[in-house]
Amino acid sequence: MIIPKNGKLNSKQLEEIKSITSEFDCDVLEIQGHNQCVYAILGDETHSLMFKRIAGLSYVKKVDAIESPYKLMDKSSALRENKVEIGDIKVGENRPFIIGGPCTVDPSAPSLFIETAHALKEAGVDALRGGVWKPRTNPYSYQGSSNAIEIILKAREETGLPVDVEVMDSIQLKIAIDAEIDILQVGTRNALNYSLLKEIGKVSSGTKSTILLKRGRHFASPDEFIAAAEYVVAAGNANVMLCPRGTTPAFEGYRNHPDESITPLLKNKTWAPVVVDPSHSVGHSEYVFSSSLASIAYGADGLCIESHIDPAIGIGDDPKQAITPDNMKHLIYACREVWKYRYKPID
Ligand code: PEP
Ligand code: MN
Repeated sequence: MIIPKNGKLNSKQLEEIKSITSEFDCDVLEIQGHNQCVYAILGDETHSLMFKRIAGLSYVKKVDAIESPYKLMDKSSALRENKVEIGDIKVGENRPFIIGGPCTVDPSAPSLFIETAHALKEAGVDALRGGVWKPRTNPYSYQGSSNAIEIILKAREETGLPVDVEVMDSIQLKIAIDAEIDILQVGTRNALNYSLLKEIGKVSSGTKSTILLKRGRHFASPDEFIAAAEYVVAAGNANVMLCPRGTTPAFEGYRNHPDESITPLLKNKTWAPVVVDPSHSVGHSEYVFSSSLASIAYGADGLCIESHIDPAIGIGDDPKQAITPDNMKHLIYACREVWKYRYKPID
């Protein structure tokens, strides 16, 4: 991995490096972060002469050979300086980053989403979520509709809040990229779909979109989870956040096995922000509050929570999982309080 002295190489410098790597049958891929670019060497990177020649260039800070299955996501990677920025917020700085909104945008009732968006802004969320296309276990359940994207965009325009939308295939990805969706969510069912992860990383490279990658529901280990994010980063977009959302088998009484406790392990291994989804983890609105507080206590940088102004008339998971904006306001207050008392090692 090549780390430039000034954040980013100019085209002449990149060309010079590429001419060196091509002599060794290697190529170079630019990986863009919001404030730091790094350059991955693709191919057999074991040529020490190639390393030496690149390291000797005046504009190169260093050439790193990190021995890790996820060398870009690794905590010691040069990307540790990368700050994931959404809107005007640096995720993980000063207070929890809260994404809130319905599970599913109901295209037959746009005003419900818009009113929810305004109420959530008032409650203090930092970004809105809403499912446009839905991965449903039952093929006969509502599958989503591209029409819902307009409703999301209207909510963004009216509230000024960034928006989070799940994408499951190339067509949806293209629509979302064209709409400049701020957070592209990869759901638990696609969490290990490496072709999709690579495509998302490539297509979103150089855009402002951040990827919210959920944890594979079948108990993806921390390493497997981080390696999945590495696919996105290695394809060109360094702006990723990891989202534990519960695993199977479920803990009796909850929808899944709550996994906020994985947060410190992830934070020990990688620089990427961790944004926990308590809603799909516990699966019932009454348990979302305690799971949220636990997530922040475990060191999460943020939360992604389903919320609706009238959960009972929502669709998808909303009737059972969504909390009201009033409860969201209370939750945000409590999470900010817990944030103040988080464990910090004494030097
Ligand atoms: C969702 O966020 O609505 C969703 C379907 O999430 P997950 O992929 O975690 O099930
Ligand atoms: Mn949902």
